[in-house]
Amino acid sequence: MSPENEKKINEKFGYIIRSDKSPQHGLHMFGFECGDGWFDLLWTLLTEIEKSLAAEPKEVVDNFSVVQVKEKYGTLRFYCNGTTDAIDSLISAAEDVSEKTCEACGQPGEIRPGGWISVQCWDHYVSILVNNIISYCVDKEVSEEEKFSKFSGNSMGMFAAYKDQEEMKKYLTKQLSFHFGPKKGDRECLK
Ligand SMILES: [Zn+2]
Repeated sequence: MSPENEKKINEKFGYIIRSDKSPQHGLHMFGFECGDGWFDLLWTLLTEIEKSLAAEPKEVVDNFSVVQVKEKYGTLRFYCNGTTDAIDSLISAAEDVSEKTCEACGQPGEIRPGGWISVQCWDHYVSILVNNIISYCVDKEVSEEEKFSKFSGNSMGMFAAYKDQEEMKKYLTKQLSFHFGPKKGDRECLK
C-alpha cells in the first residue's frame, strides 16, 4: 500500500492497531502488504473493529493489536492478537469482500487466472494480458514458429501490421474485450 494511505490509516487507527506491540511481526516491519484498492475495505473494517472494542472492557482493548495485514492466494489476510468472536467475524466478512474487490483500484473484480493469483477488475486484468502478449510477440528469443503455434497465422499477421506498440495495445484490448470482456460481443468496442 502507498505510504500516503498507510499514513492515513495509522493516523486514524494507530491507537487500536498498535503494531509496535508485535515488533517481530509483519505489520510493524513491512506495513500493509496489499494494494491500494483495498484501502476502503480496510478503513471500513477498522472502523467496525473500533466500534466493537468500544463496547469491551479495558483489558480486552489493551490486549488487542494487529499483527499482519497482507494479500495471500489473492485475498486479504488480517491477523490480530487478542481478538474477540465479534472481531473475528468482522475480519472474515472483510476477507470475503476482498475476493470481489480489485486489489489495484477497488472496483468490482474477481480472482483471475495467470502467473500469480490476484483479484483484478476487467481493466486491470486485460492490461496485464495485453502487456504479456506484446512482450511475447516482440521477444527475440521466441521463434516465429512458436509464436505462430500460439496464435493463428492470421493473428500474427495482424500483430505485425501494428508496428507501434501503443496501437497494438489498443487493438488487443479491444479484441480481448470483444471476445472475453464483461460486455462480450459489444460491437462498439471494435470501432
Ligand atoms: Zn482494477
